[in-house]
Amino acid sequence: MWIDTHAHLDAAEFDADRPSVHQRSRSAGVACCVIPAVEAANFDTVRGLAHAQQDAYALGIHPLYTPQATQAHLAQLDAALHTHRDDPRLVAVGEIGLDGFVPELNTPEALAKQQQFYKTQLKLAQQHQLPVILHVRRSADLLLKGLRETPVVGGIAHAFNGSLQQAQAFIAMGFKLGFGGALTYDRALQLRRLAIELPLSAIVLETDAPDIPPHWLYTTAEQRAAGKPQGRNEPAELPRIAQVLAELRGISVEALAQVTCANARQALPRLQ
Ligand SMILES: [Zn+2]
Repeated sequence: MWIDTHAHLDAAEFDADRPSVHQRSRSAGVACCVIPAVEAANFDTVRGLAHAQQDAYALGIHPLYTPQATQAHLAQLDAALHTHRDDPRLVAVGEIGLDGFVPELNTPEALAKQQQFYKTQLKLAQQHQLPVILHVRRSADLLLKGLRETPVVGGIAHAFNGSLQQAQAFIAMGFKLGFGGALTYDRALQLRRLAIELPLSAIVLETDAPDIPPHWLYTTAEQRAAGKPQGRNEPAELPRIAQVLAELRGISVEALAQVTCANARQALPRLQ
């Protein structure tokens, strides 16, 4: 049994065949997916989907969506966290965080807005006693600074690709680190080293579907130029991604499944 701790199953990429995607995930042994929101406009969608598919969800405003987000959306998030506080499928505030990669989001003004949304959502997580699901892209140190100022009960640093020191700082704050398709690439030496060096107790698995395709779904720029689209990732790929990690760590797939599910439940206690 597996838990996909990060899958954007509400994404338009799944509109044509969402029930089959769900069916394939269960057939592959993925017992539960966590569906994070990205903006106020999809709060109802992720909640509805989590209930319809017996998955879990998180509510939050993603850093890539902060340019168009307003203060009213933060009030909407607060209200939704109140309204659904007894919903056992609501497991976290997310996806929130900071993106240090996209240039338009890193002008002084755009970064200040990212920071304000991050800080406000950390406070909401603190008030509502919920863990957070963090988007980390060239932003680990700034995220850690925010967590030191506004501590939360823990959560997941998703698609983690920072240093061992940064990973240890997240772990010390009660976080697990999310690993997925990126570690299936032979050239991902630093990430693979990290996935081997970290204590197994710190690792959770995720696909980030439909994004971050594992290498067997990846199409090169030339293939895309020739009309072959980028492969779509989905939760059913999780066991095969996990197999790569199990081999890297020299442990059995069964042991990895057991530990990473327990880790996911520790990071997101409502998954129990
Ligand atoms: Zn995401």
